[in-house]
Amino acid sequence: MIKITMFGAAKEIGRSAILVEDKDTKILLDCGLKIRPKKPTEKPEGLDKYAKELQGVVISHAHFDHSGYIPGIVRAGYEGSIHMTQPTRDICEILFRDHLKIEGARFWNEEDMYNSLYQVANHYYEETFQLADGVSATFYDAGHILGSASVLLDWKGQLIFYTGDINTFETPYHDTNKYPTLEDISILISEATNGLRDLPDREVPNQALVRAIYATHKREGVTIIPTFALGRGQEIEAILAQEFINKPFNIYVDGMILKMNNVYRRYFHEYWVSKKILEWCREHRLEVPFDIPNFIPVNRNLADDLDSFRKMIVSEKKLTVVLSTSGMLEGGPIHSYLHYAAENPNYLIAISGYQVEGTVGREILDGSREITLFSWGNKKGIKIRINAEVRQFSFSGHAQRNELIKMIKAINSEKIVFVHGVEESAHHLKEDLANGAEIFIPDIRKPLVFPD
Ligand SMILES: [Zn+2]
Ligand SMILES: [Zn+2]
Repeated sequence: MIKITMFGAAKEIGRSAILVEDKDTKILLDCGLKIRPKKPTEKPEGLDKYAKELQGVVISHAHFDHSGYIPGIVRAGYEGSIHMTQPTRDICEILFRDHLKIEGARFWNEEDMYNSLYQVANHYYEETFQLADGVSATFYDAGHILGSASVLLDWKGQLIFYTGDINTFETPYHDTNKYPTLEDISILISEATNGLRDLPDREVPNQALVRAIYATHKREGVTIIPTFALGRGQEIEAILAQEFINKPFNIYVDGMILKMNNVYRRYFHEYWVSKKILEWCREHRLEVPFDIPNFIPVNRNLADDLDSFRKMIVSEKKLTVVLSTSGMLEGGPIHSYLHYAAENPNYLIAISGYQVEGTVGREILDGSREITLFSWGNKKGIKIRINAEVRQFSFSGHAQRNELIKMIKAINSEKIVFVHGVEESAHHLKEDLANGAEIFIPDIRKPLVFPD
């Protein structure tokens, strides 16, 4: 008998934490927090009491909804290994430090963070490692962000495959996700992020973004791209590098994305990124795509007063693109750029990803043209007017619906559990999969029991 309990990411996205157990063994897959705009962060409630009984913790990738509670489970008493790829470990360290700075020690403190990093065990893709008596795991490249993995568990002879977050698109740094083509996977735990929508082929948003930048430039405008620091940020950097190399555009890169670039640089070899991007760099005699000469990292080497410098950047008007965090416009240097540039109707704000309800990004997309930014320690906020063009480009880091269904059919397991998606999304996928498999859309903390 195997029991699987979700402590988060059940009919929601956020705080992924999946307990897999039988009478002798308990393994945790992912250990995340749920960050919510303008509301308190949520942890995987009820998980702590298992901390001392766990024989292994396996982390699919570094995104905070999969990793943010790792120091928390250590604080609760988990002393064993925390298994992940090496890039995941390095990215986690940056995210943990950043979280402490922003949210303080609400769920865990600095000491818990160091202890948890000390417990990390690194593994490569397709290398099998032992978790407990009769239980082993193997990572598969998930194509989602640097170091991201899906997890195959061999549970005393029974195979369980957990997708984590997967990308079925080829993106500049990563090939499409990989999965085992074994006959006898009995339980598939799959993400269901995009169950409700099909996305256009990746070339479509890539080209649309490039065209929009040229069009904005033609009317003497600056393109401002709010972006996520990790994954999407580097992807857009690569698109811009490939288009604008040897062209007189200045591309300013600002915020947390620069820290993540360092990790991408560290792991920029065949094992972690696609051959295609390596070849492109070799051809252009670059170490990484974001080394092209017209990329300008905005940091204190350029100016002491960064705010004034940012103002200057967006008043240059010609041949300027700004790529800055945060991706949902909730904070970070993007606020400076909006403050100084959003009023100009010739400018473009190019939204590069999904915007969660309640974020500034969502507000703007939904048509608000008077927004209040809470930055610079200003509690009342600063009101700004948006006259710039606002456009969304349909990048997604997740499996698109058709491809996800194709993968699920290829894996052909008898039991499918949908996580990491809203309820309608999972139901929608369920309808498309009426092929005899038993499908589960679990509730939080309600165990699924699979008899032998
Ligand atoms: Zn993710
Ligand atoms: Zn996720």
